[in-house]
Amino acid sequence: MTTQPSQTAPVHVIGGGLAGSEAAWQIAKAGVPVVLHEMRRDEPPSSSEAIGQIKRVRTEAHHTDGLAEMVCSNSFRSDDWQFNAVGLLHAEMRRCDSLILSAADQHQVPAGGALAVDRDGFSAEVTRRLEAHPLVTIVREEIVGLPPADWDNVVVATGPLTSAPLADAILALTGEGQLSFFDAIAPIIHLESIDMSVAWRQSRYDKEGPGGDAAAYINLPMDKAQYEAFIDALIDGPKAEFKDWEHVPYFDGCLPIEVMAERGRKTLRHGPMKPVGLTNPRDPTVKSYAIVQLRQDNALGTLWNMVGFQTKLKHGAQAEVFRMIPGLANAQFARLGGLHRNTFINSPRLLDRSLRMKVEPRLRFAGQMTGVEGYVESAATGLLAGRFAAAERLGRTLAAPPATTALGALVDHVTGGHIASEDAGKSSFQPMNINYGLLPPMEAPKTGEDGVKIPLKERGRAKKRLMSLRALADLETWLAG
Ligand SMILES: Cc1cc2nc3c(=O)[nH]c(=O)nc-3n(C[C@H](O)[C@H](O)[C@H](O)COP(=O)(O)OP(=O)(O)OC[C@H]3O[C@@H](n4cnc5c(N)ncnc54)[C@H](O)[C@@H]3O)c2cc1C
Repeated sequence: MTTQPSQTAPVHVIGGGLAGSEAAWQIAKAGVPVVLHEMRRDEPPSSSEAIGQIKRVRTEAHHTDGLAEMVCSNSFRSDDWQFNAVGLLHAEMRRCDSLILSAADQHQVPAGGALAVDRDGFSAEVTRRLEAHPLVTIVREEIVGLPPADWDNVVVATGPLTSAPLADAILALTGEGQLSFFDAIAPIIHLESIDMSVAWRQSRYDKEGPGGDAAAYINLPMDKAQYEAFIDALIDGPKAEFKDWEHVPYFDGCLPIEVMAERGRKTLRHGPMKPVGLTNPRDPTVKSYAIVQLRQDNALGTLWNMVGFQTKLKHGAQAEVFRMIPGLANAQFARLGGLHRNTFINSPRLLDRSLRMKVEPRLRFAGQMTGVEGYVESAATGLLAGRFAAAERLGRTLAAPPATTALGALVDHVTGGHIASEDAGKSSFQPMNINYGLLPPMEAPKTGEDGVKIPLKERGRAKKRLMSLRALADLETWLAG
């Protein structure tokens, strides 16, 4: 059957940010009409209002009514596709004809190896291209509840500052605990950078988990002097400030570790660093004074999170302070900790592999709402949600890209790769940037393409390059299919 695009019912995209703009572009490019609903707008004064009083509707962080506004930094981070996972994501998105990457390339400013842009020129370019597309209709309105029943194919991409009426409606649909309004992020470490000659695997009291594993955690022991020095570093370390409008509450069970340390020097060793039920096999007669535990974070087993270590320490300070922990001297962090105002759903439980909500499949999610973190990752999920939505409208099925690609790894992580640890009914799922730990690992090569031996310290880089080459080759196959 030949599709007549002009007679095809539109897909609705809610939110014209990084994800929604990309989704709308991908849908229109597939020949499917799309209506993009964005609440930010400038309304002219009504006759009863004072002349010149334009009503400006914004979120707390957006300053303009431009589509794809970058609310803070003007950088899309590293553009190095060979050795950096976000650079690889750029390369994949360019191959998928991404509007965000194309507008960024057009408006880039000098930034060394990073892709940084003139933010106003970039946003104006995205807005212009979407406005000019014959299949795109942009409606400046807030969606204040679940979309009308006759919208049968919707992408929700309303971002970290989703307006309250829509967030409330999503919460009512998903249920208590399935939508978060704040993130509380503990750092995540690449397994290969943990010194296992210091660490050991054991669950507290050797308690077996549902899978029968009694050695599920990685344990990092501290003596008294190491603990005291660590507490000092936590208390003295520079902290990131909350913005006035964030109103991030400190809730029980989720206090930043430095706040716990400030409440009493022993609080942490009675809390997340308690040493009970654990025995260091290298020194079984000596009781550790405190123990940091790491829990597996992804199904591949390549990433481990620091249990209970949500923190507001500044990123630079985090790496320095956490490398004081025995076994983490050379730790490589896939994600550093943080606490922010954010809106995201418990995607591993709620979404299927094509980003559709299982209980309401007409709703597809994209962007920061899905639990990815960052401009590029948000746009990447918008790109996929747009392609999935368009394929569905055209009566086709489209599988997600393979997990060996950065695009596929990201969607796999949010829809299933994260290993859930449900403590007291609270989801452990927290926002994630793209990183190589989300892709299936490869052996580090010992020799280069020219047959010459690669020095030991350069093998990690060589492995990243191999993984990037594999990703781009697999993406080409996916695109061709
Ligand atoms: C303060 C702050 C600073 C950040 N800084 C950075 C940074 O420096 N670098 C980085 O990589 N990431 C940053 N992020 C994280 C994140 O990557 C960005 O917020 C990114 O813009 C997310 O893309 P998105 O499309 O999901 O959401 P957004 O880009 O925020 O787009 C969502 C859109 O939906 C609209 N909207 C919301 N509710 C409704 C509704 N009910 N109806 C219609 N429209 C609605 C909003 O107006 C907005 O335009 C920051 C986030 C915040 C909150």
